[in-house]
Amino acid sequence: MSHVLHRSLVQSYPVAVKGEGVYLIDSTGKRYLDACGGAAVSCLGHSDPAVIAAIQRQVAELAYAHSAFFTSEPMEQLANFLTARAPGSLDYVYFVSGGSEAIESALKLARQYYVEKGEPERRHIISRRQSYHGNTLGALATGGNLWRRSQFEPLLVETHQVSPCYAYREMRPGETEAVFARRLADELESKILELGADQVMAFIAEPVVGATLGAVPPVADYFRLIRRVCDRYGVLLIADEVMCGMGRTGSLFVSAQEQIEPDILCIAKGLGAGYQPIGATLVSEQIVRTLREGSGFFQHGHTYIGHATACAAALAVQQQIESRQLLSQVVSMGRKLHAGLQSQLGDLPYIGDIRGRGLFRGIELVRDRDSRTPFSPELKLHARIKAKAMELGLMCYPMGGTVNGRDGDHILLAPPFIIDDGHVDQIVDRLSASIQHVMRGI
Ligand code: PLP
Repeated sequence: MSHVLHRSLVQSYPVAVKGEGVYLIDSTGKRYLDACGGAAVSCLGHSDPAVIAAIQRQVAELAYAHSAFFTSEPMEQLANFLTARAPGSLDYVYFVSGGSEAIESALKLARQYYVEKGEPERRHIISRRQSYHGNTLGALATGGNLWRRSQFEPLLVETHQVSPCYAYREMRPGETEAVFARRLADELESKILELGADQVMAFIAEPVVGATLGAVPPVADYFRLIRRVCDRYGVLLIADEVMCGMGRTGSLFVSAQEQIEPDILCIAKGLGAGYQPIGATLVSEQIVRTLREGSGFFQHGHTYIGHATACAAALAVQQQIESRQLLSQVVSMGRKLHAGLQSQLGDLPYIGDIRGRGLFRGIELVRDRDSRTPFSPELKLHARIKAKAMELGLMCYPMGGTVNGRDGDHILLAPPFIIDDGHVDQIVDRLSASIQHVMRGI
């Protein structure tokens, strides 16, 4: 009997014993092609020798030094690496242990910035429906996913939601992308005015929506219009690139693809690629200057912020990605993956949409393609597809609630950047076999 409080209390899990390139291997020797990087984490695969060596060197030299006493070389070097490549004036980095902590830090930074700037009435956070920003209470309160929020609602601080940029379902018949983007920006502006333009602190969004919607990129110009609305009312723009950032869509920062400069940008997952738990909050020079000239410190902190071994691992991961030019592979393999999915699945009557960017791809299932009606959530299609894929030796990331937190199913793919043509074929074959097997039983 296991004494671990596992995610599921009724299911048993295979025991993972080894990672080898794009595969995870369990205690029976079964190999699983990791087509989702767990949850879009393992972007370098599972056994990168250079990263392993960097971690071993760092642990032997200095495993950890508390950040209230010391800085460390890996932390300084990783901050230099990231800020040299980040958009705009995101010149400072706060290192944490994961995505939720990165979001919490962003929210507290935004609040402290306005307090010290002399605008303490700014407190409202606006996010989008069908969003996920993490599971700690502040991050959960910020997200707009009804299912994830519902039982914890009494514990959540008040936040406000606007429509997501989810063209497949939110664009009206006859509406162009340009008109859609303008309508959503207008909706944000109305929400800011409704709450009081001098009371809104931040707008937060995932540039490409991951787990909640299944790799949904924004329409052209959406983020530029959003940036303009935020600027008009002095609202901070927080980009949550925890899942979509760090090369997943073909460049290190999605905000750069969208030609915007967020005030705060959160990363995690692919930053350390699973070799160590690490996340980070990148912060604009203006925010840091305000705090430096004010209280002189950021009133926050966790025991493991700036963990030396985690920073050394992340630096090695990012150096590998850059020196091996893996981001161009993300683009080319992403195209191949998309084409494969389209050709094997695209014509099936229950495939509503295949979308995404780079090696971040989503497939939305529908009962009826014309009306885009989702399947009943009671069917638990997403869970059945995940189970069948595991049986066939494929890890993918299916989720339910795509439409409104309750209805809808999608499958998210986020394979390692090191996949080759053969792996792409295997992913497409096994995924399509899993989906078709489950659909035959419906
Ligand atoms: N933000 C986004 C967009 C995420 O996808 C996630 C996790 O899936 C988080 C935040 C929270 O990250 P973590 O699970 O590392 O706390």
